[in-house]
Amino acid sequence: MTSSTTGTSDLPAARLAELRAAVAREMPGVRRDLEALVRIPSVSEEAFDQAHVAASAHAVAELLRGAGMQDVEVLDEGGAPAVVGRLPGPDGAPQVLLYAHHDVQPPGEESDWTSAPFEPVEREGRLYGRGAADDKAGVMAHLAAIRAHDGQPPVGLTIFVEGEEESGSPSLGRILAAHRDKLAADVLVLADSTNWKIGVPALTTSLRGLVEAYVEVRTLDHSVHSGMYGGAAIDAVTAMIRLLATLHDDAGNVAVQGLVSGEAAELDLTEEQLRADAGVLDGVQLIGEGSLTSRLWTKPALTVVGFDATSTAKASNTLAAKAKAKISMRVAPGQDANEAYEILAEHLRSHAPWGVKVDVVVRETGQPFAADVDGPAYDAARAAFADAWGVQPVDMGIGGSIPFIADFAALYPDAAILVTGVEDPDTRAHGADESLHLGEFERVCVAEAVLLERLGQLGS
Ligand SMILES: [Zn+2]
Repeated sequence: MTSSTTGTSDLPAARLAELRAAVAREMPGVRRDLEALVRIPSVSEEAFDQAHVAASAHAVAELLRGAGMQDVEVLDEGGAPAVVGRLPGPDGAPQVLLYAHHDVQPPGEESDWTSAPFEPVEREGRLYGRGAADDKAGVMAHLAAIRAHDGQPPVGLTIFVEGEEESGSPSLGRILAAHRDKLAADVLVLADSTNWKIGVPALTTSLRGLVEAYVEVRTLDHSVHSGMYGGAAIDAVTAMIRLLATLHDDAGNVAVQGLVSGEAAELDLTEEQLRADAGVLDGVQLIGEGSLTSRLWTKPALTVVGFDATSTAKASNTLAAKAKAKISMRVAPGQDANEAYEILAEHLRSHAPWGVKVDVVVRETGQPFAADVDGPAYDAARAAFADAWGVQPVDMGIGGSIPFIADFAALYPDAAILVTGVEDPDTRAHGADESLHLGEFERVCVAEAVLLERLGQLGS
């Protein structure tokens, strides 16, 4: 259950009004700095010029120094540069780590964008640009909160701005290991997620994990004439299709025994809304059983995301000797991603039709996450969100994966982990026309300023 606005710790109305006014005062500068960050095309994907990522790390470091943070450093453990800064708090105050990332996804086809991806433009209350939301607005929300407190929040702060989240955080483990003590905190605020909808804030309390695997099917020593051998010898593509068909039952539920499933909280997600958001064609049924939120957040999902076979243009009347598919599996909270991979691989090997050869290789795993949603930090966050929006926040899941969250959870098992964010359902993070809702963004900044105030009240 969520606590009420006046719940666990008291924040005088006058202090709330002060913080709200301070954020409003800071917003023009926050907006300017956000736009400057968006103009730096800091795509961390290897094929892009990494000088831009270095430039954006430098720009973030300057912003931290400008906000009065100390010991500002650019950390490099062989990947893209992260930025860290500290702000000591009063004696006995809780230590809070604020996370965001300054790298962005590639822009994709520029022609899909209404305006240039790295030139921020406001239209109808939204700021468009790659990174305008994900996650440069996360960086700026942290800075807005610090500025609203005039650089003296009532907690000890560490800010950590990663530079390679969009590339799967390859060196994050090394950075965390090398700077473990410097980054340690009682409360982690990871601002890289979404709110439920415009006007309804959310804490992201569960995430599915990810397994990417390749499966290869081989049936013949070499390809042969389908007229000469078809009907007795089996081709690899047909065998692969039969194998992949075993992954779901007739209702569309994942049929791999041993994968964990859970139940998600019911939120007001309707089939109609989901169909519209996903662009499901008329007459095409949704798959699976149980509530929609459970299907999206707390049950596993299996998708064939790639398939290597002869193209129709080049196909001759031949039995293919081999075929390869790439499978993306979302792992429900509560199951180890590596264990889920082993279960999937064993399913594929043991369901090989007609004795065909099946090889399975894992490419990547990311752990799922389920927050411990009780305790004073969660109470403070819920109260702060209610202060900022005027409505209670919801606990939501995310069907996707943010593997770094599990990395933090593993490293700091005693810390409260708050997953917040600046996004809304229309943000289109990673897509063309990514944008930030500016009205919601100000509420995000108010909520974070109030959160720091309320966390400060938890000190001794
Ligand atoms: Zn992000």
